[in-house]
Amino acid sequence: MTTPADICVTADWILPVDRPPIRHGMITIADGRIASLHSIDDPTQFREDRGDTQCKQCVRYGNVAILPGLINAHTHLDLSGWSHTFAGRPKLWEWIPEVVRFRRSESYHPGQAIEDGLRAALAGGAVATVDVIPPDWLTWDWPHEKREGWTDDRAWLPKSGLTRLRVFSFIECLAPTGVMRIPPSELFDRHRKACLRLGWHPAISPHAPYTVPLEILEEVVKLAEDRDLILAMHLAETAEEVLFLATGEGPFREMLEKLSAHKPGVFRPGRTLKDVLKVLCRAPRVLIIHGNYLTEPEISLLSRFADRVAVVYCPRSHEFFGHAHYPLEQFLTASIPVLVGTDSRASHPDLSIFGELQAARRRHPELKAETIIRMGTTDAARFLDCDGDLGRLAVGRPATFSVIELPSRYESDDPYEAVLSSQSHVRAVWIDGDVVYEHRGA
Ligand SMILES: [Zn+2]
Repeated sequence: MTTPADICVTADWILPVDRPPIRHGMITIADGRIASLHSIDDPTQFREDRGDTQCKQCVRYGNVAILPGLINAHTHLDLSGWSHTFAGRPKLWEWIPEVVRFRRSESYHPGQAIEDGLRAALAGGAVATVDVIPPDWLTWDWPHEKREGWTDDRAWLPKSGLTRLRVFSFIECLAPTGVMRIPPSELFDRHRKACLRLGWHPAISPHAPYTVPLEILEEVVKLAEDRDLILAMHLAETAEEVLFLATGEGPFREMLEKLSAHKPGVFRPGRTLKDVLKVLCRAPRVLIIHGNYLTEPEISLLSRFADRVAVVYCPRSHEFFGHAHYPLEQFLTASIPVLVGTDSRASHPDLSIFGELQAARRRHPELKAETIIRMGTTDAARFLDCDGDLGRLAVGRPATFSVIELPSRYESDDPYEAVLSSQSHVRAVWIDGDVVYEHRGA
């Protein structure tokens, strides 16, 4: 039976992720949704002689793989205008003051940076991005407000591409001196209102254990419980964070002092990562950002909450800081979902989630490429509660996918491996049946 369709798209491979790969695949699209999905080698599904290719537009990609749209699970888009370079690998407590300085400098144009960052995220294959935004954003001067919507007149980016990218925006809570300038519930209400105008999904992020004392964290977690919010926190990013929790001393204390953000007695000593996790895990959904230095006892605690907790791994940011080996296998063995993010331009060369998945493959050859691709698609969509729309390719679901150009020759007969080859790149991104990004050039 001929499927009435607006568009048909063919590709050497379609990887629905939740089902086996489809060789010589075809997706037909009607009203922005997938009308059919099959192999053109299958005569029960496809017959050229009966006009099965009749549709308004045919896109024949050839040597590509089509995946569910990729999800970038951690960014700080306001830092996309960053240009500072470090000699060697900075320590986190050396790097944070540079970020603070940058945010106070004349080179910081956050509205423009977010627009540029979203454009870079799309070019990196993302259809959705999880962003942590500083509370000051509520008072920013936005360049797009001076124009007609977020349209872009550059030929390579079809109009409104940026507004089609799904943004999960986490308002950052900071209270190094023991108080928040605006109480968490009021801050979140203002954030939610601003997000609604932009079509973003609002959420909340207490920054880290050295900027948010446990008492304030309790308050933010209570808010997340009351409003059913996703909560994200930078946790166990360095070993010195554990020292700070235990003693209130060390390089993080010195950093807070230098930033005039230290008040004696605010961070009571004698605390552990487990104490923080026990509070965090009361929230309805928790995204642990990094978790680089979580060890067996904490991982086993987290595994009890694996239905609502995930960690986000940023492989190239991890390399930038020269951290110890990432406990990726331990998380996966404990059935804790691991998502993948780029982190910001302040610790990262670009905002390509596809580049990040390639880096994860390179750094963890023990894992199957398929597992890594699931982390950036299905697992992320499930955690963010958008798996009704994203994370899988199936009939009736939105035609939202990332198109990856494969190398002209690849050794493996596993298409997932070919996708994560160092020579593959993002060819296009489709959202709801429209091309919103197309790679131009060689
Ligand atoms: Zn971060």
